[in-house]
Amino acid sequence: MKKSAAEIWEDLKGQVDFLAEAGAGFVLKPAHDNSAGDRPRNVPPAPRQTPAREIGPQPPAAPSQTSLAGLPAQTAAEVRSLEEIDKQVLVCKLCSLHKLRTLAVPGEGNRSAALMFIGEGPGRDEDAQGRPFVGRAGQLLRKIIAAMKFREDEVYITNIVKCRPPDNRVPHREEEEACSPYLIRQIELIRPRVIVTLGKTPTDYFVPGRAGMTARRGNFGDYRGIPVMPTFHPSYLVRNEGNRELKRMVWEDMQKVMALLGGK
Ligand code: URA
Ligand code: SF4
Repeated sequence: MKKSAAEIWEDLKGQVDFLAEAGAGFVLKPAHDNSAGDRPRNVPPAPRQTPAREIGPQPPAAPSQTSLAGLPAQTAAEVRSLEEIDKQVLVCKLCSLHKLRTLAVPGEGNRSAALMFIGEGPGRDEDAQGRPFVGRAGQLLRKIIAAMKFREDEVYITNIVKCRPPDNRVPHREEEEACSPYLIRQIELIRPRVIVTLGKTPTDYFVPGRAGMTARRGNFGDYRGIPVMPTFHPSYLVRNEGNRELKRMVWEDMQKVMALLGGK
């Protein structure tokens, strides 16, 4: 799909704003070629270890621990399974968060994205619109994505819990446990090459550790063969708006992600 001049300008502006605020100058690393939103095909096809599974109305199965690295792009059936997950999430009542939601937020973006962002849970704007990261923090995340030279429709954005916790509180453990099989299945089907966890909640889930985010950010962890980069949640950056150092650190983390994606 061709972009209008106005859309291209919006993309550029987001990129320049974030980089200027991060104090990054305007020197970008050479872009990786992700123009078609494709994953690289230079990985020899490995035998499928997680066969496509029909997703019915039952809750998703417990996550398997099979490695997800180096698998081929998903099949049409798997794309349909992803669409099925979205439909299930929209009517899900597996935890009490369903009672207060306006709309559940399954996630959005490219279903074969090389890069996946995982946040905590929908906030007020997301609950109203049924889309992830559309409020203030979301606008900042989308600037960061533009600064990384990705279009929003090339990446996948979702959350650990798909329904808004009241007053944006941190999701309870049982809510995470009820909801995470959807996310795990999304990861298994999308098979991103890199995952970015935004803030402590998704970071604790994927790369558990005792240290705070300041110590953990910037260091790749691993989830079943997929590198996981923890970084600060954009809402933390919004709350500390004047703190350019935080933006610089997030940009540093994202450069590591770009190097990993572009360096292959
Ligand atoms: N914060 C999140 O963690 N996720 C969203 O979708 C929006 C804000
Ligand atoms: Fe279902 Fe997840 Fe929503 Fe709970 S948060 S009702 S598990 S979709």
